[in-house]
Amino acid sequence: MDLNITCIPGDGIGPEIVAEAKKVLEKVAAVYGHKMNFTDILMGGASIDVHGVPLTDEAVATAKAADAVLMGSIGGDTTTSPWYKLPPNLRPEAGLLGIRKALNLFANLRPAILYDELAAACPLKEEISRAGFDMLIMRELTGGLYFGERRTVEENGVRKAVDTLVYDENEIRRIAVKGFDIARKRRRKVTSVDKANVLDSSRLWRKVVEEVAADYPDVTLEHMLVDNCAMQLVKDPAQFDVILTENMFGDILSDEASMVTGSIGMLASASLNDTKFGLYEPSHGSAPDIAGKDIANPIATVLSAAMMLRYSFDLDREADAVEAAVKQVLKEGYRTGDIMSPGCKKTGCREMGDLLAARIV
Ligand code: NAD
Repeated sequence: MDLNITCIPGDGIGPEIVAEAKKVLEKVAAVYGHKMNFTDILMGGASIDVHGVPLTDEAVATAKAADAVLMGSIGGDTTTSPWYKLPPNLRPEAGLLGIRKALNLFANLRPAILYDELAAACPLKEEISRAGFDMLIMRELTGGLYFGERRTVEENGVRKAVDTLVYDENEIRRIAVKGFDIARKRRRKVTSVDKANVLDSSRLWRKVVEEVAADYPDVTLEHMLVDNCAMQLVKDPAQFDVILTENMFGDILSDEASMVTGSIGMLASASLNDTKFGLYEPSHGSAPDIAGKDIANPIATVLSAAMMLRYSFDLDREADAVEAAVKQVLKEGYRTGDIMSPGCKKTGCREMGDLLAARIV
């Protein structure tokens, strides 16, 4: 395949980790006979420094013309960087919100995987972590409470604030379809999470998810209330395959799920629109405290690139090869500083990229 990928190196450790992900993708292209064309664009602080704004129309146009976008991360030290003296609409994060909106990315995917070799970092009891887990949280990203009408008023001297949680059936259907499609690439189980015992929006969510499920008889559907799901994530995380949920529940549950893995440098993510297009990025930030030192862990970005191969390009074999390379490198005892444990071999960011690329077969 001939693949056009727009890269956003971004700020802080972004350029270092994106360089390693490109290295691994280039090896995939060489081994599996693809051509990958990379075009870099500026976003966040890097764009502010050159253009005075965190995202230009030209950068958006370049991203839109690509088959997929691979991003590092954006932003600087929020207390010392001059970027944070700018008005909010000109700060680095405005670039991220702007590109998500421009690309209509409504589905956010965050895998939470416990690797055997990193089980010691898992904060759960050993009898729970021993079973391992490999789940994917699919969160609706452009609707619900964060986008509903809101206001703060004063009535008879009492301040009152109102937020509204709105979903229409089309918004629910398109994310449910994504969730079931993706479950077909995994273990074929969807846990739809809602608060249908209280909220009308959740009752509609449940109905529409059931309608979509009728088209996927090969995928098991279960419903779970969000409060129960929050408990089950720490009690028995191995039960989950795809967790499908609305915006705010997904925001909270995906952070909870990622924390039970215990390894921030390992967490990939993807945001998709209703075509095969997606923006792929690590879940962590730009880590300005370690930027430029060649010590960042590039694995979250490399695993995000694997998600790009799987979900935007349907190159499952190639995605499997990248994920297998990550497992192999961990098995051989190589670790960046953030996941280091006694007896392992400490590597830098570039060396980790070299090791991963060498294990793509
Ligand atoms: P962070 O995720 O950047 O860092 C938190 C801690 O984890 C730091 O100690 C950092 O050194 C460490 N860390 C993170 N990624 C690592 C990696 N790959 N390897 C080794 N260690 C790693 O969070 P923060 O410090 O709260 O935010 C820093 C900046 O990143 C802020 O400007 C924030 O707004 C931005 N941010 C951007 C995104 C994004 O681009 N999507 C997401 C979150 C935060």
